[in-house]
Amino acid sequence: MRFFVDTHTHSQFSPDSKATVEDLLLQAKKCGAAGVCITDHLDLDAPRDPGLFVFDIKTQQEEIKDKNLQIFPDGSCKVLKGIEIGLTPENLAHSKDYVAGHSFDQIIASIHFVDGKDPYYGTYYQDKDFRLAYGRVLELAFRMAKEFRDFDIMGHFDFVARYAPYQVRDIRYKDFPDELDSLLKFLAQEGKALEINTKTYDWQRDHLQVLDKDVLRRFKELGGEFVTLGSDSHSADRICDKFEIFAEICRECGFARLTYFENRKPVLYQWKTR
Ligand SMILES: [Zn+2]
Ligand SMILES: [Zn+2]
Repeated sequence: MRFFVDTHTHSQFSPDSKATVEDLLLQAKKCGAAGVCITDHLDLDAPRDPGLFVFDIKTQQEEIKDKNLQIFPDGSCKVLKGIEIGLTPENLAHSKDYVAGHSFDQIIASIHFVDGKDPYYGTYYQDKDFRLAYGRVLELAFRMAKEFRDFDIMGHFDFVARYAPYQVRDIRYKDFPDELDSLLKFLAQEGKALEINTKTYDWQRDHLQVLDKDVLRRFKELGGEFVTLGSDSHSADRICDKFEIFAEICRECGFARLTYFENRKPVLYQWKTR
């Protein structure tokens, strides 16, 4: 049994998810999760189809409430309302407007599309070496975090390396000390969480990406307090995937407790397995 809160999951309100809210909650129950936050995609200017990663927040929240009452009538698992907003300089204002008037437990800010390109399809990397390709995303993450501000968790900081064609396939602190320092310092000072996204370390073409522990250690040194674990599950079977492994890594790097957000406030918790 596991006693984790999975802070990053996708349901039927995300076009790329194979799971329904019900599937996710049933799996959370089965694996003994202490909590799960449903964080569907909002990307208001996806390059190929601007209307694809958009959902009706009210309908999603009603569905979460309904299924929570049905599956956890005793409240034995914290079911949280979230959203993952993919930010670009062009969609900041529209994203703010879109979420205004809704209440969330947590908001994840992520970078998915860069300069009008989707790294998933590879063209982003053309004419760039790894320093330029990764550095640009880290710089953009810092800028978007500063300009958007109304979020709780910085999602998958090293996502861009998932699909990269280079020999260097991890984002290492030693290669990007300045870019990472700016981002991590901002998160620490603003009381935001750094997410460890376990899907990133599950993504294998010819290389299994690894988390550079120096990034976590540096976040701690800069005063960072909050680290969340997110499976970024798009199918129910990945709820809390590899959390034991990454929780140990967090502990080793100075984060004995993990975090989730409820009503936009950080909650630190001690995890355990049995
Ligand atoms: Zn994402
Ligand atoms: Zn996601």
